[in-house]
Amino acid sequence: MEDRDFYAGLIRLHILHHAVAEGPVYGLWMIEELGRHGYLLSAGTLYPILHGLQRKGYLRSSTERVGQRTRRMYYATPRGEQALAIAKQRVWELFGELFEPRATPAADAPWAEAPHAPGDVLGAPPPAGRP
Ligand SMILES: [Zn+2]
Repeated sequence: MEDRDFYAGLIRLHILHHAVAEGPVYGLWMIEELGRHGYLLSAGTLYPILHGLQRKGYLRSSTERVGQRTRRMYYATPRGEQALAIAKQRVWELFGELFEPRATPAADAPWAEAPHAPGDVLGAPPPAGRP
């Protein structure tokens, strides 16, 4: 996956979101869910992420019997729920900034191309003798 630094956090938030909103998640389901969103992770990549979230106290896990097999289920902890709530506020803020019309002077603003006199410094008072 390209630009993986950007997505490392998004993948962790995604896992935490599903663990909080939908109850326990397990590895194979999470791989499929993330794949649906375009994050193609192998088990060898996902499990260390799950273990890391567990080590930091955001998830806890227990093994459960499914037919003849056991499956490790990951549950959100109160700490995980709290961390997700804070992260959601930050994502919301970033989302607003990413998609709102620009509020700051930009290259396509009408005043952006106004020529500056040589030596003119933005914010500096006009030199004496100029109007
Ligand atoms: Zn999802």
